[in-house]
Amino acid sequence: MRSRIVAGLVAAALAAVPAFAAAAAQAAAGPAAAAGRTALTWYGHSTFVLETPGGTVLVLDAWFKNPKSPDKDAAAKLEKVDYLLLSHGHSDHVGDAVALAQRTGAKLVGSSDLGRALQRMGFPEKQSTFETTGNVGGVIQAGDATVIMVPAVHSSDVNDANAHLGGGNPVGFVIRVKGGPTLYFTGDTDVTQDMKLIPERYGRIDYMLACIGGHFTMDPAGAALAASWVKPRTVIPMHYGTFPVLTGTPKELEAALHGRAKVLVLEPGKRTTL
Ligand SMILES: [Zn+2]
Ligand SMILES: [Zn+2]
Repeated sequence: MRSRIVAGLVAAALAAVPAFAAAAAQAAAGPAAAAGRTALTWYGHSTFVLETPGGTVLVLDAWFKNPKSPDKDAAAKLEKVDYLLLSHGHSDHVGDAVALAQRTGAKLVGSSDLGRALQRMGFPEKQSTFETTGNVGGVIQAGDATVIMVPAVHSSDVNDANAHLGGGNPVGFVIRVKGGPTLYFTGDTDVTQDMKLIPERYGRIDYMLACIGGHFTMDPAGAALAASWVKPRTVIPMHYGTFPVLTGTPKELEAALHGRAKVLVLEPGKRTTL
């Protein structure tokens, strides 16, 4: 009882000094204290690391060597990756996938066609089975995240120095984090009326990770139209500024959204809690 009173007094004192309380909370933050929160780190282009409250680590499209990446060797440094969510086979989305899977044992979440193509390039077969690969509409359990493959309008061939392999159809992902937010990662796609079904079928989207660069995908106006259908709380722009032809900017997205959703521009390499 006495200790409860003391704890109460300490809590009251801290609450009376908000700045100190905030600093104490900050000091307590760190990898261990981050448990219970969902964290997202963008590495430029369409590559993200998503950490769930339960400690599952998911990589979304693996091209850590992209020109905007703050650390071109990041793929070789990630301590733990449980799942690799690959939207399609283009090299700007799977560039580091095979090496990352070989080193970490991460399982492929994506289309089975893409899985077969990547196996021919060295992706470990036992990490690319029907347990985690499927097709549009498929629901995959990835640790404490539930991942649903949704349509994307694009292409998906897989190239290496010797071959062009069919990678099936491209996909996007709806990711429901247990005890955390629901994200929609569009992959590479134009705006499509299929997006109207996403909130109807999968519920409220908290964060929409949307391509905005144009040329190969939606531009900011297209992404804003898509957001008007998906109705996310927040749009996180991606797939822009990497190459000169990807001209769309977050500012243009913000203007086109007319306040319908917040825009969160992530700084490459900076871990953000959601
Ligand atoms: Zn592509
Ligand atoms: Zn792309």
